[in-house]
Amino acid sequence: MQNFSFYAPTRIHFGQGQVAQLAAEIPAASRVLLVYGGGSIKQNGAYQQVMAALSQHAVLEFAGIEANPEYETLMLAVAEAKAAKVDWILAVGGGSVIDGAKFIAAAALLDEEIDPWLIVGNRTPIKRALPIAVVLTLPATGAESNFASVISRRATQDKMSFKNALVFPRCAVLDPALTLSLPARQISNGVVDAFIHTTEQYLTFPAEARLQDRLAEGILSTLIELGPITLANPDDIDARANYMWCANQALFGLVGVGQPQDWVSHAIGHELTTLYDMDHAQTLAVVLPSLLRYCFDDKLLKLAQYGRRVWGLAGSDSEVAHAAIDATVDFFERMGLPTHLAAYGLNADEVALAVGDLLPKHKAFPLGERGKLTLADCMAIVRMAG
Ligand code: NAP
Ligand code: FE
Repeated sequence: MQNFSFYAPTRIHFGQGQVAQLAAEIPAASRVLLVYGGGSIKQNGAYQQVMAALSQHAVLEFAGIEANPEYETLMLAVAEAKAAKVDWILAVGGGSVIDGAKFIAAAALLDEEIDPWLIVGNRTPIKRALPIAVVLTLPATGAESNFASVISRRATQDKMSFKNALVFPRCAVLDPALTLSLPARQISNGVVDAFIHTTEQYLTFPAEARLQDRLAEGILSTLIELGPITLANPDDIDARANYMWCANQALFGLVGVGQPQDWVSHAIGHELTTLYDMDHAQTLAVVLPSLLRYCFDDKLLKLAQYGRRVWGLAGSDSEVAHAAIDATVDFFERMGLPTHLAAYGLNADEVALAVGDLLPKHKAFPLGERGKLTLADCMAIVRMAG
C-alpha cells in the first residue's frame, strides 16, 4: 500500500428529519446565503424544512444554479454574498449546487486583485473560504462531504475542477426522504456516477490495498443490487437510504487512499458534457466500457478480481475480465443509460476529434493510473465508444 494522509472533517447527519440539525450547526448570529437550483427544493419540502430549521437566522437566497454550475451565474452569487456580508453558505440540492457553493465560498473571500476564474483548476491559492453547510437532495457525487468542485464556463468551453480542504462542507444532511421526488433520469445518473467514482479508484492494478478493494466491492455490489430496485420502486425508502449512503462513500475518499487511481473516464466525460451537453453520468456510461476494453491488459488482474468478487463469475482471468465488462455494460443499460455515442446521435470519429482539440487545454498528459495514456489513446477510447 502507498503512504497516505486522510482528512474528512464533514459532520454527517443521516436520516429522516435531520434537516432540523442545521439550527445547531449554523451559529444563530450568522447571516446565511441559501443557494439552490431550479426550484425542485420547493416541491420536495427541503426548502420549507430548511426555513423552519433556520427560523432564528438571517437567511438570504440565491436561486438558479444550473446543472453543471456556470461560472457567470456563480459570480452573481459571489456579488450577493459580498454585498450582504454573509458568513455562511448553505447549499440545498445536488452536486451542481454543492460544487457551486464551494466556489462561492472561496471566491467571496478572494483578494480583490485576483481573477476568481483562477480558483478553477487550482491556478491560484485559496487562503480562506466561508463555511459551508449542505442539505443533499441527489445522491451521486459525494460532493456533500468531499473537497472537490467542478465548475463550467460555457463561453470558453471549459469544465474544470478544483480541490481545496477549505471547502470541505462543515456539515451535511442526508435525508433519503428528500430524494423521493427525483425523476428516474436522475436516479439512473446518480447510481451510475457513484458506481464509476468507485471504479475510477478500484479498477486499476493490484496495490495491496486490501480493505480499500473490499470497500469498493461492497459499494459496487450494493449499487448493483439496489439500483434497479430504486428505479422500479420509487417509494422504497430503505433502498433510497442505502443508495444515498453508497453514493456518499463512493467519493468520501476512503476507497482511493493508498492506491493508484484512474479518473480518465471523468476527464473525457467532462469534455463530452461541454461539447454535447450530455448529463455527467451519461458521458461516463459511454466512456468507461470503452476505456476498460482499451486498457484491458493493464487492468486485467483487477478486472478479473472484480468479475469474481462482484459478479460471481468463474473462468480464466481473461474470460472473467471480458465477462465482467459485459456485465457492467448490461447493468448501465438496465439502469437506463446507453453505453454508445450512437445512442445520442453522435459520430464517434467526429467526437474523438473534438475531444482531441479540447482535452489538452484541461489535462496534462500522460493520464491514467500508470501515467501512460496519451492524447491519441484518449481519442482512440472515444472512437471505440461509437
Ligand atoms: P445536479 O446537476 O446537481 O442536478 C441535476 C438535476 O436534478 C437538477 O435539475 C436538479 O434540480 C434535479 N434535482 C436534484 N435533486 C432533486 C430532487 N430531490 N427532486 C427532483 N429533482 C432534483 O446533479 P448531480 O449529478 O448531483 O451533479 C452533477 C454535477 O456534479 C456535475 O457538474 C458533475 O461534474 C459534478 N460532480 C462533482 C463531483 C465532486 O466530487 N464534487 C463528483 C462528480 C461529479 P434543481 O435545479 O431544481 O436543483
Ligand atoms: Fe462523477
